[in-house]
Amino acid sequence: MTFAEHTHPNGVVYQTAPVIHTVHGFSTRYGGVSRDNLFSLNLGEHRGDAPANVTENYRRFAQALGFDPGRMVFPHQVHGKAVRTVTAADIHTLHTPVPYDADGLVTAERGLTLICFTADCVPTLLCDEQAGVIAAVHCGWRSSVADILGQALEAMRALGARPERISAAIGPAIGKCCFEVGPEVTEAAARWLGEPLGDLALARGDRFLLDLRGANARRLRQLGLDPDNIAVSEECTMCHPEKFWSHRVVGERRGSMAAAILLPGD
Ligand SMILES: [Zn+2]
Repeated sequence: MTFAEHTHPNGVVYQTAPVIHTVHGFSTRYGGVSRDNLFSLNLGEHRGDAPANVTENYRRFAQALGFDPGRMVFPHQVHGKAVRTVTAADIHTLHTPVPYDADGLVTAERGLTLICFTADCVPTLLCDEQAGVIAAVHCGWRSSVADILGQALEAMRALGARPERISAAIGPAIGKCCFEVGPEVTEAAARWLGEPLGDLALARGDRFLLDLRGANARRLRQLGLDPDNIAVSEECTMCHPEKFWSHRVVGERRGSMAAAILLPGD
């Protein structure tokens, strides 16, 4: 299933997945006010950008998607498997520290926008519209093989979500074309999935090209999601560093993309 791309009149270019029927989107590099190596839509607070630029970038991104930038919840991502269930008490004030480590956020509270940061890693947004439960999950390979999606599903179920009703959007990330890893990563991925990787991994000498998005999609199917409710972006961040932030291309001087999801308030 393909993603749709939108250009807001304010210049922000973002993508959505047709399987998710609530407010959500994945940012690109286009439409912000940051300069030089952070040109132009940097949504990371810790990338060396001027705070005023980041604030304006969020204002534009929020305007494009249709959410209140004063009611966002941020994760402090550490490539772990912790998923935090959040409420309005966790609303983030820009340019202040996030007081907990988490690579996934879950909520049943309406009007709260959950954020996930990436620049090659896999951003996954989840929604059970009927239960009113959403999640934003940072699926780098370490978090993936630690089964952060299993943790996220457990947290969503605790709030009343049911896997067979959950829709999932797996966004722009480094693709199988570019994600070269050592055998320790493919071995960890096979242990995580409990089955051979098959065409998720392609041998290249003594290393492998890994389809991390495909592996996360397979995990979601194992967890009970309907394959028809899973959308996987086909765009590779490393192949398109002019459009997406890519850590493997730019290194530490990169900006950050954000994925966002919200259940609108009453
Ligand atoms: Zn690529």
